[in-house]
Amino acid sequence: MLKISQLFGPTVQGEGSAAGRHCLFVRLFDCNLECTYCDTAYTWAVTAEKAAKTRSGRRYDRDDPAYGLKLMGSDDVLTSLRKLWDVQSRPTIIVVSGGEPMMQQQALFPVLQQLRDWGNEVHIETAGTIPPTAAFDSVVTQYNVSPKLANSGNRLSKRYKPAVLAALHATGKAWFKFVITDDHQADLAEVDRIVADVHVPVTRVMVMPEGSDGRRNITTAQQMVDAALTRGYGLSFRTHVLLWNDDPDR
Ligand code: SF4
Repeated sequence: MLKISQLFGPTVQGEGSAAGRHCLFVRLFDCNLECTYCDTAYTWAVTAEKAAKTRSGRRYDRDDPAYGLKLMGSDDVLTSLRKLWDVQSRPTIIVVSGGEPMMQQQALFPVLQQLRDWGNEVHIETAGTIPPTAAFDSVVTQYNVSPKLANSGNRLSKRYKPAVLAALHATGKAWFKFVITDDHQADLAEVDRIVADVHVPVTRVMVMPEGSDGRRNITTAQQMVDAALTRGYGLSFRTHVLLWNDDPDR
């Protein structure tokens, strides 16, 4: 069974190299990290201990009908997606997000295999701490890898797995996206170290301002964009924030 939080769309991919493209979202429940700024903490901050790791400190209800945990079989997921969009005859992008999708590779495989067979692209959003199996990799079109920096609040040994990042890069399907805060100089210096350590080409690196309101997103982007471009990195906005103020259903 798959641990699902939300299925929604059609919408636009908000972030990274595919930003602006038409897609559906499969948002999975549960994550192996605890980022202070997480904008989908409802997928994991369901205990007092985990809630205390987030900036808001809010504890979410695991049984919330809208955003809580739903256990769904492959056929249920495919049927639900087909109600959102005719993924069988009008293929689109299926963005598998979370939470951390790589925690559920085995359960995801039959769903993603069917979606690929119908002609859809499968884009996986991951923090890059769990490597893909060969079978899982065979049904993935693109990895959007977002390694977490010190600004995420996770300890280094938990958030930084260079061998996993190298394995994802070796698939030839990975783009790397880093969340940058107000302290952009320290953040960009950490990005530089990771990019050099893992040997990621700078043309595959994008930096993205943190923040769940549009004004702050743009301000942080303006502060860091020149320093990013000098390094050869691209800039990603959070399109869904600019359009819909981080509405969790868009
Ligand atoms: S890895 Fe992603 S989903 Fe998990 S806590 Fe961090 S931002 Fe949230």
